[in-house]
Amino acid sequence: MKEQLEALRAEAQEQLRECVDSAGVEALRVRYLGKKGQLTALLRGMGALSPEERPKMGALVNQARSEIEAALEEKIRALKQEELNRRLQEEQLDVTVPGVSAPIGKKHPLTQVLDEIKDIFLGMGFQIASGPEVELDYYNFEALNMPKNHPARDTQDTFYITDNILLRTQTSPMQVRVMEKQKPPIKIIAPGRVYRSDEVDATHSPLFHQIEGLVVDKGIRMSDLKGTLELFAKRLYGEEAVVRFRPHHFSFTEPSAEMDIRCFSCGGKGCRLCKGEGWIEILGAGMVHPKVLQGCGIDPAEYSGFAFGMGLERIVMRRFNIDDLRLFFENDVRFLEQF
Ligand SMILES: [Zn+2]
Repeated sequence: MKEQLEALRAEAQEQLRECVDSAGVEALRVRYLGKKGQLTALLRGMGALSPEERPKMGALVNQARSEIEAALEEKIRALKQEELNRRLQEEQLDVTVPGVSAPIGKKHPLTQVLDEIKDIFLGMGFQIASGPEVELDYYNFEALNMPKNHPARDTQDTFYITDNILLRTQTSPMQVRVMEKQKPPIKIIAPGRVYRSDEVDATHSPLFHQIEGLVVDKGIRMSDLKGTLELFAKRLYGEEAVVRFRPHHFSFTEPSAEMDIRCFSCGGKGCRLCKGEGWIEILGAGMVHPKVLQGCGIDPAEYSGFAFGMGLERIVMRRFNIDDLRLFFENDVRFLEQF
């Protein structure tokens, strides 16, 4: 029986060494120490021994039991340590491996320049206003001194939703909307999308952007208009920028003017960029027509103001030397990532 015990002990140790996971260890525990286990069977067999041998044998069996128990515990501990080492190895983080860069977009060239223009005007104390792109005929034309059948309407054919609702052809309706709500002093710019029923080509798009400006207060004069817009041009194009004002006609300003900047490519001599003129038109402006003020409930005897409007696309095209307007709206990343 002693030999049997020795064999069992050796066999248990051997099997335990070969065991690779905790389920295997558990199976061995049942096999040797369980109620129906081999060691228990050996204890039962002790009934056949003589009374002198029984306690000796009992002690040996108990010793074997605690040895096997300890070996099982030890094995469990070793397996856990192994598992931990393996995970540490697998989940190791090498902080020196170069990262995978995620491509980050950037602002559209139109937005870049618009932000710059907004900054310039905010710096001069202007506020930014925004309004509807789907507009009433009244605000887009009539309130701007362009009644139905006014010839100026012909140059601004647009998309009509009904006879009286249309996509705005200009940001100028914002002049009226602001003056209706706000009493002077008023000092705003209103950038936004505008629409015209134009065929798409290198210089035309049915959708483009304008930036409207409006200043109304007591004692606003043409010299304020000139000073403000000249300062704007110098901020946008550099201190050396030279501007000139030419008389023009707009129905909602009187007098009206267009502002040109001396060609920064040829310095005024005439080149392809300025089409030989030496000057490039950048915006239209004028003193707000008294009829427009009156229509908004502002007394033209007490208040005066000036307004201006410019096309964003043309400014951006000149800034980045882009010769085709369509590129702005095609969203080709190869084009956009250059700016
Ligand atoms: Zn030129």
